[in-house]
Amino acid sequence: MRRYPLLATALLLAVPLGAQAPSPLTAELDRRLAGVMPKVVAWRRDIHEHPELSGFEVRTARLVAEHLRALGMEVRTGVGGHGVVGVLRGGRPGRTVALRADMDGLPVTEQVDLPFRSRVRATYNGQEVGVMHACGHDNHVAILMGTAEVLAGMKAQLPGTVVFIFQPAEEGHPDGGGGAERMIANGVMDNPKIDAIFGLHVWSGKLGEITYRPGPTMAASNSYRITVHGRQTHGANPWGGIDPIVVGSQIVMGLQTIISRQTDITANPAIVTVGQFNAGVRNNIIPDSAVLVGTIRTFSNEQKADIFRRVQTTAQNIAEASGARVDVKIDSGYIVTRNDEALTARMLPTLQRAAGRDMVQLAPLATGAEDFSYFQARVPGLFIFLGVSAPDADLNTVPRNHSPLFFADERALPVGVKAMSALALDWLAQSSR
Ligand SMILES: [Zn+2]
Ligand SMILES: [Zn+2]
Repeated sequence: MRRYPLLATALLLAVPLGAQAPSPLTAELDRRLAGVMPKVVAWRRDIHEHPELSGFEVRTARLVAEHLRALGMEVRTGVGGHGVVGVLRGGRPGRTVALRADMDGLPVTEQVDLPFRSRVRATYNGQEVGVMHACGHDNHVAILMGTAEVLAGMKAQLPGTVVFIFQPAEEGHPDGGGGAERMIANGVMDNPKIDAIFGLHVWSGKLGEITYRPGPTMAASNSYRITVHGRQTHGANPWGGIDPIVVGSQIVMGLQTIISRQTDITANPAIVTVGQFNAGVRNNIIPDSAVLVGTIRTFSNEQKADIFRRVQTTAQNIAEASGARVDVKIDSGYIVTRNDEALTARMLPTLQRAAGRDMVQLAPLATGAEDFSYFQARVPGLFIFLGVSAPDADLNTVPRNHSPLFFADERALPVGVKAMSALALDWLAQSSR
């Protein structure tokens, strides 16, 4: 358990400005930001206390839709599941930019000692679980609700249109795939046609620091399932059957050499992990089959195809050596989150003004995955990270996203609202010239 410090939330409002002179719109943004922050904090606490699993974001979606309607936006609900879309048409002509927040929680039982800690329980995969915003999506929703209010207040001066995308099921829909693809299939990128998109993720990094990376940023993620078919026999007579546990163990070891011995890791890092190994019911029965389940993380399409082939042949040939048979299934997963290089370079001064020049750093590659990647496959996009760890946290050991101890310090929220608002404002202003 971690004691929660109830700190003043306004500390970060006075972030230092970068060298570039702010536009008149940026100055107005600062004024509006101060007014909206108490609400953003309240929304975040409320959403944190009421997390919903992927595909079940009913309450969160209702909260968002009511807010966007109250701001006078055109609102679409039920987009790709519980997705909500708000369209803000500015008073001046221009292009269309989208801002995206994901809304779902995770089957994690919260262990952080917060006054607004989650006590929600639900059924997940037939198991009763706690539900927690362990990936910090509560922050994303609150930040984008605040951004919507700030930009709605500046509607008359806005040179173009802002589309607010509140996405369900980023962590994976119970029926497969993710919410981004579902929203795209439901036409979220059309009417109005989106020209560029920005997204943000909080993580256990330095408080208020924005990190970014041009090009590939987060990995492609594919889960695989290898079923080893042996032949059941008495544990005292292994020669009477084919032992799928021993074959499965050899496959686990064989998979380790795909990255360490067969892949050019100077070109791109990659990962093959075995996360589950299920077989057998009792000490003296060699079972009929064993199942290995794991994940593959890659940053290039060619390498991904090559690793898929090697997983298949490694499992198949090891099994054949013992007379066993394998089925290898690899899902379509999430594609690489790839920030458009030109867009990233162009928006860097905006990020520096929002967070402060010293508080914007280049991010290392992240082996996590994001379905924001599907929006970026359609239009140029930039996905940034916002550090939310408490100032006294040891960043080497602080609990990460998805931990029951993941903690987001709300003093980072103003930086998030400012960054998202400024990205939309600056992109529209630059694009209308
Ligand atoms: Zn997550
Ligand atoms: Zn996440």
